Amino acid sequence: MTDQHYLYDLAEGDASMKALLGGKGAGVAEMMRLGVPVPDGFTVTTAACVDTMAAGGTWPDGLWEETLAALARLEERTGRGLGDPERPLLVSVRSGAVVSMPGMMDTILNLGIGDDTVDALGREAGDPRFAWDSYRRFVQMYGEVVEGVPAHVYEDALTALKKARGAAQDTDLSTDDLRELVDTFKQVSRQHIGDDLPSDPREALRRAIDAVFRSWLNPRARVYRRANGIPDDLGTAVNVMQMVFGNRGETSATGVCFTRNPSTGAKELYGEFLLNAQGEDVVAGIRTPRPLAEMEQVLPEAYGQLLDVMQRLEAHYRDMQDIEFTVEEGSLYLLQTRTGKRTAAAALKVARDLVEEGVITREEALRRIEPAQLDQLLHPAIDPAHGREPLTRGLAASPGAAVGEIVLDSDLAERRGKAGDAVVLVRWETTPDDIAGTLAAQGVLTAHGGMTSHAAVVARGMGKPCVAGASEIAIDTEARTLTVGDVTLAEGDWITLDGSTGAVYRGALELVPPQINTDFATVVGWADEIRRLGVRANADNGPDAARAREFGAEGIGLCRTEHMFMEHDRLPAVRRMILASDDDERAAALAEILPMQQADFEEILEAMSGLPVTIRLLDPPLHEFLPNLVDQALEVQRLELAGEGHPTDLQHARALLAQIKKLTEQNPMLGTRGVRLALLHPEIPQMQVRAIARAAFAVADRGGDPRVEIMVPLVAFAEELRRMRAIITETLEEEFERAGRRLEIPIGTMIELPRAAVVADQIAEHADFFSFGTNDLTQTGVGISRDDAEGAFLSSYLDTDLVPDNPFSSIDVDGVGGLVRLGAEGGRSRKPGLKLGVCGEHGGDPASIALFERLGLDYVSCSPYRVPIARFAAAQAALDARR
Ligand code: ADP
Ligand code: MG
Ligand code: MG
Repeated sequence: MTDQHYLYDLAEGDASMKALLGGKGAGVAEMMRLGVPVPDGFTVTTAACVDTMAAGGTWPDGLWEETLAALARLEERTGRGLGDPERPLLVSVRSGAVVSMPGMMDTILNLGIGDDTVDALGREAGDPRFAWDSYRRFVQMYGEVVEGVPAHVYEDALTALKKARGAAQDTDLSTDDLRELVDTFKQVSRQHIGDDLPSDPREALRRAIDAVFRSWLNPRARVYRRANGIPDDLGTAVNVMQMVFGNRGETSATGVCFTRNPSTGAKELYGEFLLNAQGEDVVAGIRTPRPLAEMEQVLPEAYGQLLDVMQRLEAHYRDMQDIEFTVEEGSLYLLQTRTGKRTAAAALKVARDLVEEGVITREEALRRIEPAQLDQLLHPAIDPAHGREPLTRGLAASPGAAVGEIVLDSDLAERRGKAGDAVVLVRWETTPDDIAGTLAAQGVLTAHGGMTSHAAVVARGMGKPCVAGASEIAIDTEARTLTVGDVTLAEGDWITLDGSTGAVYRGALELVPPQINTDFATVVGWADEIRRLGVRANADNGPDAARAREFGAEGIGLCRTEHMFMEHDRLPAVRRMILASDDDERAAALAEILPMQQADFEEILEAMSGLPVTIRLLDPPLHEFLPNLVDQALEVQRLELAGEGHPTDLQHARALLAQIKKLTEQNPMLGTRGVRLALLHPEIPQMQVRAIARAAFAVADRGGDPRVEIMVPLVAFAEELRRMRAIITETLEEEFERAGRRLEIPIGTMIELPRAAVVADQIAEHADFFSFGTNDLTQTGVGISRDDAEGAFLSSYLDTDLVPDNPFSSIDVDGVGGLVRLGAEGGRSRKPGLKLGVCGEHGGDPASIALFERLGLDYVSCSPYRVPIARFAAAQAALDARR
């Protein structure tokens, strides 16, 4: 053995060696250690793959020698030889990365079969047909995976033969048919490769291992990694294992099972099997398998053993397992165990049940939940009262509602999905190559394949609704239609999937808002006990505020007032205010707006009674409330051309155009907005402050408990806040006097400009609280205009990994995060205990929340639907901080 140790026998490994052996290799090694029956073999490490990729595809020194040595040991242990005409050893060559990527990389089965060994294999099994069936499977897989022969080449040959023989199923073909098929497969392979398949099985093994290395880099694996945030440089391990045969007749089988239901989390039997078949047949969704419960009748002994092993594995790993097994002539073998991918609903139920079963602690349960995944539960569902008959039904493979236009291929689904269309990908079966289309679609419908097919596993992992195996569907890819009985739908027609029941409906069904179930409520309750950060919501109206409260928001961190100005019935008065030619006219317009604002505030304060509500004074530049400059110029032109008829209209239009021109700025984001605008036109914040105070008094009069806070946007200079505070306080005093009583109303500021972060100590002098506006702080701190960047260079930065994440979705920890730290420290250096919050999209992003926890902020504020996610993320951040 060379000093570089690139290979491990299965018996040398265990679960802790996942980084080196990959999840699959470590899992099989651990099962061997536990005495669970697994085929023997060895693992080529991820390091070997990484070193090979780094060398542009050349294997590192010693790797091949080590492989041969490991093979010799395996031959010795099994008493068989690779290519041995008497006692042939057959192996599988399996991919397996550190993080499981179901079906994204390649695996080759039955390596070692050839003209020299096929007879011995048939003799040993007492079944030559089985040997030839294994042979043709090998030629096909080897051709596809190692030599890149298109799959249809083999499928066409198989279909042609079946047709010629009048065979409905693969299993109807005779030994001679299969012998002929092997010849045909070899011939078509030769046509594609320009060479024979290697006759030396050791050479085939070398190429197979190399092909598995390369499959790490295939496009679908890359797309999957990107979608799941898996780094590109981990590489895959390669597991070489003795074959066990599920295709040796009616006492043999292969299957997949989960120790709990991965859709719902229920503790129940969940799995599928196929008699007389090899593993790929189930996971690739080629044949629709039978429910696991039926295995009890046909293979009672292996079934009992399997249930026992399932229990042991779950108890050992203390989590739901996803298990592959094969039964060879009545004997059970386990081929894989891994933590089962599950829906968010299942994740919550399993976590809760495992805690209640005493298997894990609450803290462990919380750590296991992926907060971002909970998003799935917070999406609309089909209205249960719809009363429609489904068009057809399939298997409920991944829950949730999907409404979209039918699209029949993955590329089109990807294109249209990315363009913002709602599409449902409908396929005969999905292959892992459909991943990009699946990602871009609302949901997936297949006519074929089972609940444990890769399509279903991947869809569940991504939270995409999926109905699989809807066998009544016939798809015509030429005519681009799908037919169920006498109903024909064309590509582009709307359908609705219910992935929770398997129902497929014609047309777009009505959806209803999501509800938090008891598992969610229980587990998020544990999160609340652990987290330190408060969680508030961003809400601008009563219904949003009420929803946020339902989702557990502890107040409103950002109530934007501009939306209220933009509503239809307000806009005319707002425009009159902006265009007013004198103070009286302006005062009249503001007087009209005041009661409307007050009504909005009352609604919000009522919904949030007893909890803090931070109201931000008007922030955007005034031109946003006026028509677009170009539109208005065209309107003036239109009126001019219409002639003398409308002199006053024309005058008005010209005045408006002039005003728009005056207000139009080169960089409105950095222009006359926020506190700058308020200081120029103090009558606007005065009106808002009056509306706030009057709303609070009105709510209190009705028995409510209003806790309002006033927030000033876009402060850069301490003096801005000092002056603004004086205006607010003076107005409040007038209102208190008018009401004959007082209210406690803290006045704070946003920190959303770099200068403000730097001079936070000076600003704190005049502030009762800070709220970091991380959206604008990112725009101004990084110097990127969000709207201009996201469709342009930022996408390319993300595609080429120049930046790890979109800084508007997940905070730029080093840069913008540094500004937040500066602001927090500065503020608290002047006022220890100064209340610090975050509003902006980052408040709902788990990675950003982790930073805010480390910086010791008091609360985050995010959109109502993300509140539960933030509660979980805050608990995880607190647990991490305690470590
Ligand atoms: P994937 O990650 O795509 O599931 P696997 O390496 O698990 O790929 O293999 C694909 C299928 O082949 C699985 O169903 C597996 O159980 C089966 N398989 C792999 N190795 C063997 C083996 N040595 N004997 C029998 N079946 C095998
Ligand atoms: Mg597998
Ligand atoms: Mg802002």
